[in-house]
Amino acid sequence: MLGATLVILSLIALAWYVAKVGTMFTLLFIGAVAYMTYKRLPLIAFTIVFTLLLAAYTALPWIAVNTAMPWHTPASGVWQGFLWLMLAGLWLLNIRPLRKALISRPFLKAYMRLLPSMSQTEKEALDAGTVWWDGELFTGKPRFEKLLASKAPQLTAEEQAFIDGPCEELCRMYDDWDITHRRADMPPKVWDYLKTRGFFAMIIPKKYGGLEFSAYAHSCVLVKLASRAGLLAATTAVPNSLGPAELLNHYGTEEQKDHYLPRLARGEEVPCFALTGPRAGSDAAALPDTGIVCKGQWQGREIVGLRLNFNKRYITLAPIATVVGLAFRMFDPDKLLGDKSDLGITCALIPRNTPGLSIGRRHFPLNVPFQNGPLSGKDVFVPLDTIIGGPKMAGQGWRMLVEQLSVGRCISLPSNTTGGAKLGVFASGAYTRIRRQFNMPVGKFEGVEAVLARMVGYTYTMDAARSVTAGAIDGGEKPSVPSAMLKYHITEMGRQVASDAMDVHGGKGIQLGPRNYLGRNYQVVPVAITVEGANILTRSLIIFGQGAIRCHPFVLREMNAARTKNVDEFDSALFGHIGFTISNAVRSFVMALTHARFTRVPDVGDTKRYYQHIVRFSASFAFAVDVAMLTLGGYLKKKENLSARLGDVLSSMYLASMVLKHHENQGRPAEDLPIVEWACRNQMYRAQEQLHDFLRNFPNRFLGGCLRVLIFPGGRSYFAPSDRLGRQLADAVLNPTEVRDRLCKFVYRTLEPGNPLGLLQEALVMAQSAEPIEKRIRVDGVKTGKITALDVPGQIAQARELGIISETEAAGLREYDRKVMELLSVDDFETHEMAAEGTDSGGARETFGVAPGQVA
Ligand SMILES: Cc1cc2nc3c(=O)[nH]c(=O)nc-3n(C[C@H](O)[C@H](O)[C@H](O)COP(=O)(O)OP(=O)(O)OC[C@H]3O[C@@H](n4cnc5c(N)ncnc54)[C@H](O)[C@@H]3O)c2cc1C
Repeated sequence: MLGATLVILSLIALAWYVAKVGTMFTLLFIGAVAYMTYKRLPLIAFTIVFTLLLAAYTALPWIAVNTAMPWHTPASGVWQGFLWLMLAGLWLLNIRPLRKALISRPFLKAYMRLLPSMSQTEKEALDAGTVWWDGELFTGKPRFEKLLASKAPQLTAEEQAFIDGPCEELCRMYDDWDITHRRADMPPKVWDYLKTRGFFAMIIPKKYGGLEFSAYAHSCVLVKLASRAGLLAATTAVPNSLGPAELLNHYGTEEQKDHYLPRLARGEEVPCFALTGPRAGSDAAALPDTGIVCKGQWQGREIVGLRLNFNKRYITLAPIATVVGLAFRMFDPDKLLGDKSDLGITCALIPRNTPGLSIGRRHFPLNVPFQNGPLSGKDVFVPLDTIIGGPKMAGQGWRMLVEQLSVGRCISLPSNTTGGAKLGVFASGAYTRIRRQFNMPVGKFEGVEAVLARMVGYTYTMDAARSVTAGAIDGGEKPSVPSAMLKYHITEMGRQVASDAMDVHGGKGIQLGPRNYLGRNYQVVPVAITVEGANILTRSLIIFGQGAIRCHPFVLREMNAARTKNVDEFDSALFGHIGFTISNAVRSFVMALTHARFTRVPDVGDTKRYYQHIVRFSASFAFAVDVAMLTLGGYLKKKENLSARLGDVLSSMYLASMVLKHHENQGRPAEDLPIVEWACRNQMYRAQEQLHDFLRNFPNRFLGGCLRVLIFPGGRSYFAPSDRLGRQLADAVLNPTEVRDRLCKFVYRTLEPGNPLGLLQEALVMAQSAEPIEKRIRVDGVKTGKITALDVPGQIAQARELGIISETEAAGLREYDRKVMELLSVDDFETHEMAAEGTDSGGARETFGVAPGQVA
């Protein structure tokens, strides 16, 4: 409202000015200058064109007077004076030595005082990974040609065969209820299959016996396994994620690689990686675990090694691990290795049987009992060559971890959560079609339709983001900021989809037992939310916190120049930055007023408008970021809610871009357009709302108001997806369509007795042919009063007797009804069956300070 009022007032002021002193030439002049700013002309080019324009503009009064143009009034002296002063300033700014002496050098001094201090770990996090599409979104002018030119990810024949062969077989042999309820572990045959068929070796190079899969293939395998069970996918993801194999691959010595990688590839070693402890969770770099360089006995002789003391918890695969990757802080108090006593965070590989290592007990992660537990070590003595990469990598642990996290975080959790969402949407579409209430499939009620639409839109977005980003990794990127965006947004969307799936299934989703295919999926959601950087932290501190400095085209350059006191570089970055900010302000205003209709984007057909909207938000975002950084400086880091919102805007643009690229990668299927539209509209709407909330909460209200004028001059103009659009999305999964198949690609849907998804799909196909016959029974039989039976089998029998349906139709309906009832049924138990065998309160070591068996 305030924005619209300010725009109207500005327009009135301009009209008054034009009427009083100006002419259409004034408008033309302003328009031409704005156009140059919009187009980001370099300073010298801008100055030259500005000079010519001003010369023409001021010559016009003379021409007007001499040619007696009736519609021209000469510009006022004040206005002209201002423009000539501006021109003088512009020319002075082009004299670099002068500019450096008068502006850049003094500003550098002030900047150095403002520059927030940065720890070594923060610097390493900033240096890790590469800047990819995230960097383009920070420019205010993203080059979509670049994104569209990147290759669509594809599976090789070998990778496809793995998904069709061993993955299928693994899904088939996996019995979720038996594993999660009865055994609290996978049976030996499943473990053996995982270890021996290469499931733990997807990232290990072939020369060491691994599968050496692409990031995309790795991701697709996890999607498939997650569509069967969260526990299966989590167990498979860990050895292929940030852990011993990944670290050895990139930093290990040849000896370490030759020893460990083949054994890991064959499943002879099971790895885990221990970073988290009771005192260091989110702030993992503050870990208190130590490795002291000292002399000690090793295999009968005295050597210089490490004495480790550590206490870790929540470590996946720890209870069964044979080799432990360990992060600790390394000290050399006696200077046995050099001059430094605090060497920093270091990673080592410790065999399970090392004396002093205590391992084997389990945590119980939310009824999805994958192997996860604590481990600790007291005065564990190991040689220095247990350090990953050898002694020369002492102190490099944090860098190694954050570097590899930028890849791993894009794959494991995003893929597992996408697989879970695909399971949810695949099952929900079919279930809400075969489940009837009020004589209608429940999926056809508007309320349920809206929920199904959200599930479809989110799942498409998740799938797009994980596959396009995996493709970028295969193209050589290590996208660290997108990895945080994917981690946060995909798991949050996954949480929503899991919750939605439960809602539309009603009681069927709640009653646990062998027939429940959703409950465990729902229960496992908080695990994805918590691991690899808990979500609140990731949103509040990491996405924008890292992105602002990493991806911004000038900030890191300015900071580095300030740190090295390089005035030349600082000057060039600073003036580039100023031009960039002014240009983004103009671009933001112009594109907001025009709804970005004239913004140039690649010729992509129906989706063109979304590209234009992303460019518009990119300019507004870049402008808002600059103003926020300029006015709040290091304080912005502490204003977590503000930086979280900026992170949300960045993420929305990123996710919408992934959706558009995914659509291109799939060959632009026209039937997918409603989903693409829903997904983009949803993201752009969120971007708008978050940017609006950012401005509303901006500490300086006046500045916030000015930003609002330039960003939302006509108010908020973007709407969330409509109900009509939502209906199209719901329809796509309520029917056995190609859209449904594409969306749910890789879901384990083989038709076999133990696979509810295969059975649901079968019933969905049958529902299509059954529905017209059911309608006939209802209209010709029930409504006319000829059929009096209340139950479906009775109605089928009467309809057959009355000749309303044929014998073949009756047989088909009976079969369909039998299958539906089987799918709708839930389990029931005797009380003793519900208690997990061998469980009692004594299983826990201690409960809130009360030892087992002790009365509180
Ligand atoms: C099932 C499971 C498996 C795991 N596997 C492993 C493993 O294999 N190896 C390993 O090393 N670790 C593992 N972890 C540990 C995991 O990485 C941590 O749980 C995670 O880092 C969060 O630490 P925390 O649980 O101590 O939460 P805390 O650090 O106590 O955080 C509590 C809450 O505060 C929020 N928070 C903290 N700081 C901030 C901030 N500055 N701004 C905003 N919010 C903040 C967090 O987001 C969170 O919501 C696992 C955890 C689980 C649950």
